[in-house]
Amino acid sequence: MSDGDCIFCKIVAGELPAERIDGDEHTIAFLDINPWTRGHALVIPRRHTKNLYEIGEDDLRHAAVASKRLARRMRDCLDCEGVNLINSCEPAAWQTVFHFHVHVIPRFNGDPLRLPGSPLKIDAASLAAVAAELRA
Ligand code: 5GP
Ligand code: ZN
Repeated sequence: MSDGDCIFCKIVAGELPAERIDGDEHTIAFLDINPWTRGHALVIPRRHTKNLYEIGEDDLRHAAVASKRLARRMRDCLDCEGVNLINSCEPAAWQTVFHFHVHVIPRFNGDPLRLPGSPLKIDAASLAAVAAELRA
């Protein structure tokens, strides 16, 4: 249910401070301590699971619903022009805190965020090859 060494479990338990902005039976949402934009928040399940590979489908659904609720709240209360949802799974994908979380990031025209990559140059045969691997 919880992991004694996990900072997000400590936030759920009230043992570490956080700017909580939303919550329900299954999730809480609080501001990221190092925000990428004004209002950048994290939605987490109350139950500890490491990441997307491990999370139960019900907690994943609850986190998705809470993320949508928060995105609409950001639109209505912060007047943002868009929202990004980001989830990182494992260090190779930038995960640094190992309690599943969704970044809910309000976006404003002209804000400093940029896409972190650019498209690979890939031909049709290579696309077909990777598609075949993923269908297996
Ligand atoms: P990840 O890198 O795993 O996708 O995201 C972890 C996020 O948690 C980072 O954006 C980081 O700023 C945030 N974070 C790390 N420690 C704390 C904390 O103690 N409190 C809060 N509110 N956010 C944290
Ligand atoms: Zn945890």
